[in-house]
Amino acid sequence: MTHIDILGVAAHPDDVELSCAGTMLAAKAGGKRTAIVDLTYAELSTRGTLESRGKETDEATKILGLDGRYNLGIADGNIETSKENVRKLIKYFRMLRPTIVLCPHFSERHPDHEAASELVHQASFYSGLAKIETTGDDGKPQEPHRPLMVLHFMQTYIFEPKLILDVSSVFEDRMRTVQAYRSQFGRGKDGQKIASGERETFLTQSGFYEWIEARARHYGMQIGVQYGEPFWCEGAVGIKDLFSIITKNIA
Ligand SMILES: [Zn+2]
Repeated sequence: MTHIDILGVAAHPDDVELSCAGTMLAAKAGGKRTAIVDLTYAELSTRGTLESRGKETDEATKILGLDGRYNLGIADGNIETSKENVRKLIKYFRMLRPTIVLCPHFSERHPDHEAASELVHQASFYSGLAKIETTGDDGKPQEPHRPLMVLHFMQTYIFEPKLILDVSSVFEDRMRTVQAYRSQFGRGKDGQKIASGERETFLTQSGFYEWIEARARHYGMQIGVQYGEPFWCEGAVGIKDLFSIITKNIA
């Protein structure tokens, strides 16, 4: 398989869509290869069934135009940062050979998001060590591979971003990926009520959809564009051209 340029790794299918779908779409529009590895099927979700969620994930995957979407099938709820789970992720890093990995921040409301962050932290490092041996699906030993950059996307908790990407040109499709997960939100842009008898969750509360849009608008304003997606990373971000950081027309 040809290498993947940007790989999103998340605890649940819909995490990448809610947090940084615009970044995935912008990369795709720029001719890059993109993929997502979901750690679980989110079988503990309050709303929807595994089947309905699977269809929603397929729909979002199509909108994103992903070159691959994988699921490690780890049990949802209390994801363990075990050696076994690190090895599962190493196998995918070595198979997909991503240059950039997008993953949750280490401080998050949902403990599984924090666990996903830690698994990526460990797997992205150990994947580069030749003496940690793994076997591919073809039964052959895998070559070591370490992603060049790990960027953390923003979920529930906010952080001071290290960089903000302009996603204005893909924003309509970006919001379509959120709407794809309709069983989770129970209401969309039109603010329709969830059906009576259905349970309200964090995701179905009034204004959730608008919150996603408002956050993108907020971070877009910070860099002088319409919509932006914030990221955090360890250390400094290097650039080759000073003018590549100019996104504003007005100072
Ligand atoms: Zn999640």
